[in-house]
Amino acid sequence: MSAQEKPPWSSAETPLATLDEALVAFNRARDWEQFHAPKDLAMQLSVEAAEVLELFLWKERDGVPSRERLTDELGDVLITLSNLARRVGIDPLAAAQQKLAKNALRYPVALAHGRADKYDALHEPVGEADDAASD
Ligand SMILES: [Mg+2]
Repeated sequence: MSAQEKPPWSSAETPLATLDEALVAFNRARDWEQFHAPKDLAMQLSVEAAEVLELFLWKERDGVPSRERLTDELGDVLITLSNLARRVGIDPLAAAQQKLAKNALRYPVALAHGRADKYDALHEPVGEADDAASD
């Protein structure tokens, strides 16, 4: 990875485990763990993701919302994801790596390169699939 491709996040210096420790302390200090049922956290995750979407609503195709607001909402998504993952005992980073490996099999480069089709449509000729790749 070149310096230009270096991601803008600091996870190399601040792993998810460090964030998670801070979240646990934050939640315990407020006695909020009692409210963190998996179903509520799952709903909150969807709400926080919708708040990200809302920032782009009615913008031009390449329009970018306020960086401060987008940063806040992306932070909310990660916080909520971390709370849910901890509550159900799933390592979110391992889950993402596992899913990436599955997606590599579902979307072989030879079939998926330059196509936004869902994996089950990759064997159809280009332009005949309806669904975009998303899961
Ligand atoms: Mg929010």
